[in-house]
Amino acid sequence: MNLKTDSYFPAEVERKWQARWEEEGVNAYTDEELRRTGREGNPFYNLMMFPYPSAEGLHVGNIYAFTGADIHGRFQRLRGRDVFQPIGFDAFGIHSENFALKVGTHPMDLIPRNIERFTKQLRRVGFMYDWGHSVDTTSPEYYRWTQWLFLQLYRAGLAVKKEAPVNWCPGCNTVLANEQVIAGECERCGSVVELRNLSQWFFRITEYAERLLTNLQWIDWSETTRRMQENWIGRSEGAEISFPVAGHEDTLIRVFTTRPDTLFGATYMVLAPEHPLVETITTEEQRAAVEEYRSAVAATDLVTRRKTDKQKTGVDTGARAVNPATNEEIPIWIADYVLMEYGTGAIMAGPGHDERDFEFATIFGLPIRRVIAAPGESADTPLEEAYAGPGTLVNSGEYDGMAWEEAKKAITEKLEERGLGARRVNYRLHDWCISRQRYWGPPIPILYCDACGTLPVPENQLPVILPRVEDYKPDASGVSPLARHSDWYLTECPSCGGQARRETDVSDTFLDSAWYFLRYPSANNDQLPFDPELTRHWLPVDMYIGGNEHAVLHLLYSRFITMVLKDLGHIDFEEPFERFRAHGLIVKEGAKMSKSRGNVVVPDEYIEEYGADTFRTYLMFLGPYQEGGDFREAGITGPYNFLNRLWDTVLSAEERPIDPAVEQKLHATIQKCTEDLEALSYNTAIAAMMEYLNVVRAGGRTPELAAVQPLLVLVAPFAPHLAEELWERLGHEGSIFDQASWPEFDPALAVADQVEFVVQVNGKVRARLPMTRGITEEGAREAALADPNVQRFLEGKPIRKTVFVPDRLVNLVVG
Ligand SMILES: [Zn+2]
Ligand SMILES: [Zn+2]
Repeated sequence: MNLKTDSYFPAEVERKWQARWEEEGVNAYTDEELRRTGREGNPFYNLMMFPYPSAEGLHVGNIYAFTGADIHGRFQRLRGRDVFQPIGFDAFGIHSENFALKVGTHPMDLIPRNIERFTKQLRRVGFMYDWGHSVDTTSPEYYRWTQWLFLQLYRAGLAVKKEAPVNWCPGCNTVLANEQVIAGECERCGSVVELRNLSQWFFRITEYAERLLTNLQWIDWSETTRRMQENWIGRSEGAEISFPVAGHEDTLIRVFTTRPDTLFGATYMVLAPEHPLVETITTEEQRAAVEEYRSAVAATDLVTRRKTDKQKTGVDTGARAVNPATNEEIPIWIADYVLMEYGTGAIMAGPGHDERDFEFATIFGLPIRRVIAAPGESADTPLEEAYAGPGTLVNSGEYDGMAWEEAKKAITEKLEERGLGARRVNYRLHDWCISRQRYWGPPIPILYCDACGTLPVPENQLPVILPRVEDYKPDASGVSPLARHSDWYLTECPSCGGQARRETDVSDTFLDSAWYFLRYPSANNDQLPFDPELTRHWLPVDMYIGGNEHAVLHLLYSRFITMVLKDLGHIDFEEPFERFRAHGLIVKEGAKMSKSRGNVVVPDEYIEEYGADTFRTYLMFLGPYQEGGDFREAGITGPYNFLNRLWDTVLSAEERPIDPAVEQKLHATIQKCTEDLEALSYNTAIAAMMEYLNVVRAGGRTPELAAVQPLLVLVAPFAPHLAEELWERLGHEGSIFDQASWPEFDPALAVADQVEFVVQVNGKVRARLPMTRGITEEGAREAALADPNVQRFLEGKPIRKTVFVPDRLVNLVVG
């Protein structure tokens, strides 16, 4: 297609290049190429978190995330890497199902339509995706392998069905993983989560807690994400201590404590009301009171119980435990603030040194004893409140005078000798509940036979197809909608040939996404989930970019699944993402975007008016990519004018030697852009390119070709369509991303672009700062203001006037 005009018409340029990319497979590999490139080339696997294809279409937040990742991929490609950049759709799960229920369209009809729409929109933004290696988690070709994965964990003893108290969302009518409960509420619908005792499938992620934690020290991830995972795994060191129950031979109450040094101050114990020992140890005198309390607690929801500011309640069971340090008999109470889900469901209470125990002891008149003295305190210093800090042991027999840290060890060792304790590491992390009593997910590939018991579906019978049923609405019964369809769940037992029942629960959507990055290179393989050779060549992922909201869900589960697959011999690495960077979020005019506020940016409108290249550049110009930015209506004209000016500049460039001052500026700009793109600091790179273009066109001068061609390569990751078109118009053949290389800079020239500025405050020299030659008054002023010495002399006073001498001096007048 020939463009008829020399003016910049983004729509025309973008349509042309999107079509060409697709026709010529510019961004795609054939399976054969993928195999070859991986072996001989310089592979770079650039991954971004695949979207959930909502009915609303592509959200500006998606585009923001993907654009930053796309720029990184294009940058690596221009630097000579063979970049594999796939995309897919995470389309199972409650999101899709709830929406389907709301609009009355079956998810099997809805999802393909959404995917089609998403695909169109993604193409329109000009992402460098390899569409030949796409995945859709709801297609049987994909979930066949998700089921295969479940079976690998099942065979390894890492998938177990157990009755356990689980989080039940009455809004979604399904169980939730702990990671899906935020402050006691469902992360999806906001309903208050209840506790239910149900038989569920769990993945034993806790077996990997230590490894998941240790590896965090060496993987190159955003610090915020690493810290979130570390806190979620929640390792604490302490001791498990057994307290004999008086009058009940062989009955021990086990507790976990991080403070074995306060054992001499344990003056009572508390059990969770649901603790199995309550039944046996409660005395006849207390039985009625205990029963009454237990039924009251059973009717209370978990959120209320978890509240720490709530008035403490509890009942004495009448039973007594023996403190193994003092041999004293101490009362055993039950109270709702102790939960079965944490530790052992029982605590030793050391009210002198624990705030919650102190409060409880004060209410019920239980003894409070000091066993730790802070510097300047003694054994007899009264306790006005709990003291949880460090100190020396007092009132602790042979340990008196010992430092607390040392005493933790000594007391634990002594208990260990007596068979009443052991060092223990505890984790906050719980096993991953992966069954869902919903419809829209892959059926869990398990069979139940009365004669043979629980059986895995034979691998050659996979996939277990999710049947199309019309009544897929979940109810409060605690069983999946599939359990209403005996024609589906009744089947032949593969072992005895008799009748077996299928598991009617489906798996959590986070299992679909816990392995998709392994599937991309092998997306077209119908024999294996991931081809061993391709996997070796392309994985682990070189760069992963996504949102921090998945720090303890998707990112933790993916690491766990990868470790399991390594242990089972399927792959030879255990961390899936060597680098991970979390992007920031964008807001609109200072406010969070939401449908209810009516301030959602609709990408299509902006792309229509300004073009995808401008939209991409503007999004990246909003602020530091890893911190996010504020979308302002008026701001988009800046990048739009920049690209228009660049267009005119390139087309009017002439072949002649480059002016030395422009050349210096060019090298400084290349250096800045190279460093900024490595650091995902896109906004400052764009600013540097804009500044450079001003120098190239200063005073209306005719630009040199040698000055603009490298700029075209720098801008290409941001505005790929425009770059391709101008590259072609300069007489080149083939895509700029294959033919051009990222420009090199000469450090000596880059430095020569620096000038020393004299910075004065009220006419007195306060600093000499290196600044870029040709810097604007505003830029120089900002750099001056950032200097600590200058700041000191400003004394926080407002600036009345600025005197500016280009390339020499800036004088700030205050007072
Ligand atoms: Zn919910
Ligand atoms: Zn059987």
